[in-house]
Amino acid sequence: MSLPPLKRVLLKLSGEVLMGGQQFGIDPEFVAELAKEVKAAKETGLEICLVIGGGNIFRGMAGAAKGMDRAQADYMGMLATVMNALAMQNALEQLGVQTRVQSAIEMDKVCEPVIRRRAERHLEKGRVVIFAAGVGAPYFTTDSGAALRAAEMKCDALLKGTSVDGVYDSDPKQNPQATRFDTVTYDRVLADNLKVMDASAVALCRDNKIPIVVFSIREKGNLARVLAGQGVQTIVQDS
Ligand code: UDP
Repeated sequence: MSLPPLKRVLLKLSGEVLMGGQQFGIDPEFVAELAKEVKAAKETGLEICLVIGGGNIFRGMAGAAKGMDRAQADYMGMLATVMNALAMQNALEQLGVQTRVQSAIEMDKVCEPVIRRRAERHLEKGRVVIFAAGVGAPYFTTDSGAALRAAEMKCDALLKGTSVDGVYDSDPKQNPQATRFDTVTYDRVLADNLKVMDASAVALCRDNKIPIVVFSIREKGNLARVLAGQGVQTIVQDS
């Protein structure tokens, strides 16, 4: 199984990759490196939508585990994703890449609201559109936000750039015998509860036939390799 020709992709970056080598927060130097990867991908002619998580700053589940109201904590998590989106916007624009941030929580002093037709126009004009605040509702994650935006923007694939190089049959940190899939079906991911993305995000991609490509964004040049079909990755799609 290989990917269809890609014209438009949604790139989802976990918040934790923005930390670089830090334990928390945003490392501007590492964000600048990520921005270079995005710029290089854009220069191949791809249209790029970006969704960035917030786990480097705040996760609702972590707040709830310490006694916070879950919905309240989730709204804080969504605000964290807006900070990350602004950091990435800054890094891309310093490289001369035109961008727009659209947030699912309206914040008109800092970014646009999510308006699909306007996002279309931005992409046509060669801008990178960064979607912030996930789906704009608690009890979801930015993986679901990524799947939703990939579907509504009719992206050819959802690229999940994270800290691991693909999907394994068990947790590679706990099991040294764990093996990485080159390809795996949506149904297997859901049935075996493989840790790729939330079940709701995987199901949305399955129902809309959007391949998910899981790869490590921490290695330099990996995004370009993955787009060229040469990287280490796992592709989740129907067999
Ligand atoms: N979040 C939410 N609804 C959304 C997207 C995000 O409530 O649609 C909150 C949720 O608390 C989540 C946090 O924002 O934990 C940060 O997002 P996520 O955990 O997806 O970030 P990542 O793991 O990708 O860094």
